Amino acid sequence: MTRTPTTRPAGARRRMTLKEVERFITLLAAAHPNAESELDFVDDYTLLVAVALSAQATDVSVNRVTKGLFRDAPNPAAMVALGEEAVGEHIRSIGLWRTKARNVVALSQALLDQHDGQVPHDRAALEALPGVGRKTANVVMNVAFGDSTMAVDTHIFRIGNRTGLAPGKTTRAVEDQLVARIPAPMLRPAHHWLILHGRYVCKARRPDCWRCPATEPCQYTAKVLIAP
Ligand code: SF4
Repeated sequence: MTRTPTTRPAGARRRMTLKEVERFITLLAAAHPNAESELDFVDDYTLLVAVALSAQATDVSVNRVTKGLFRDAPNPAAMVALGEEAVGEHIRSIGLWRTKARNVVALSQALLDQHDGQVPHDRAALEALPGVGRKTANVVMNVAFGDSTMAVDTHIFRIGNRTGLAPGKTTRAVEDQLVARIPAPMLRPAHHWLILHGRYVCKARRPDCWRCPATEPCQYTAKVLIAP
């Protein structure tokens, strides 16, 4: 998942119409027919831990550290037994590793104490876990439980504002617009389509509009239509 956005990128001529929103998402879907999370995990618990570790870090860097971490601690009891110091040794190459090590052990203990070691299918219960915010809860609900949630990371926040898909000053404003404006059957996979589009095509510094499948409905005023 990467960073939480702090500034709102400008650039959309206007907000897309609902027809344009559907067209935009349909074109992204066609470009990423098998889109799924790029984080490595084997079950709901390892998904939750991987997503919690991915704040301020790339999925590639998280996958590098979870390989060993999940080998040594594949469930909440093993993570608690491993302890904060040893968890920290596994994850010290990613950002905020001290805080994340503390949170991963604490959330594992909370799962044991309050949820029989299971990841709860409940937003409030998820957000009550140490180190788990709305974005992490949205990803877990989407990927583990198939809910139509929209986790707004830096990529989706940028796309929402830049293209006119869902302009908003805050991640929550963008999330609410996406949930309201994307056709319901497309909402759950749209999370993955948008992240991959932002990661590889509609990039932060300079979007690759020249190879974008969705230039037509996009309302960005400064499209880069010639390859560098
Ligand atoms: S890559 Fe360019 S054309 Fe495509 S969505 Fe982003 S800004 Fe719009």
